[in-house]
Amino acid sequence: MLRRPMLALSTRTGVRDAVTAAPLTGRVVERFIAGETLHDAVTAVGRLHDAGLAVSLDHLGENTVDRAGADATVQAYLDLLDGLAVAGLVGDAEVSVKLSAVGGSLPVGPDAPSGGAAVARENARRIAAAAYGRGARMTLDMEDHRTVDDTLETLAVVRRDHPDVGVAVQAMLRRTPGDLAALTGPGSRVRLVKGAYDEPDDVAFTERAEVDLAYVRCLQLLMAGRGYSMVGSHDPRIIDIAGRLAADHHRPPARWEHQMLFGIRADEQRRLVAQGRRVRVYVPYGTDWYGYFMRRLAERPANLAFFLRSMVGG
Ligand code: FAD
Repeated sequence: MLRRPMLALSTRTGVRDAVTAAPLTGRVVERFIAGETLHDAVTAVGRLHDAGLAVSLDHLGENTVDRAGADATVQAYLDLLDGLAVAGLVGDAEVSVKLSAVGGSLPVGPDAPSGGAAVARENARRIAAAAYGRGARMTLDMEDHRTVDDTLETLAVVRRDHPDVGVAVQAMLRRTPGDLAALTGPGSRVRLVKGAYDEPDDVAFTERAEVDLAYVRCLQLLMAGRGYSMVGSHDPRIIDIAGRLAADHHRPPARWEHQMLFGIRADEQRRLVAQGRRVRVYVPYGTDWYGYFMRRLAERPANLAFFLRSMVGG
């Protein structure tokens, strides 16, 4: 019931400024965010690595409003990759990139003469070159449904140089089974998630049960395909079904993995590793945490109650 209003708030800059300025927000945010600095991110990766968990790092930010912001995000990823390399943690690491953070939402103008999509495409290529040059990988996050075509076009462009660049697809979107038909070939890495954005009924399933069913249908396509499957979910039923589908399709552990978010079901992440499963943790870090944090609150009313208690000093 609260999902829609929370997601609406996630895009309001006025609310963002009030929430991020509140002194008590920190402790709650820390549950979901690895920290604000590169050092925080590398430290978190080291801990996860010691526990047998792989990582995908997200330098937080989205809907960057100017070219300088997009360039700063690219530089942050390049610095991150250097930091991971220096710490000896780059192997098997991945970076997750939101195209709107690297210029995708810029309007045509002096900052983006050919439009934001072209800026984001070039920036994604730069990050991919740095990642693959250091032995890491890259996956493109998926944002709301209006960005899917641009994201898949950018994916096709960056895959010309780095064929295993991955992409997230959202089970809640009605179009996703069709997209998966083109994305499950040999070498293709696809992360299947339920979808974190507020979408209209004509493009998406909006009831929880419908989304769950859609996820299972998409998971069947993914596991039956010939690519590398990344099962992005904390849902116990989906985790169970993923294991059974992998066995049905004779997928060895090296051909698929679970993915979960930093701070969510950490015990389950370790339990799966102990069972011999591959698990990758999505590690967000940086100062621009508001949009990401609000989507995590929207996913679970208990998070919201916890957050509100902390805001009033509890
Ligand atoms: P749910 O049914 O939402 O949750 C199942 C259980 O997981 C809950 O009962 C609870 O125990 C736990 N849980 C789930 N969320 C929370 C939370 N916020 N706080 C505490 N417990 C929780 N979405 C996109 O739209 N684009 C992306 O690119 C994208 N990338 C992602 C990458 C990864 C690695 C993951 C794991 C998710 C990503 N998402 C992305 C988010 C995704 O779409 C879902 O919104 C999110 O994963 C919650 O769905 P769920 O499958 O975990 O199931």
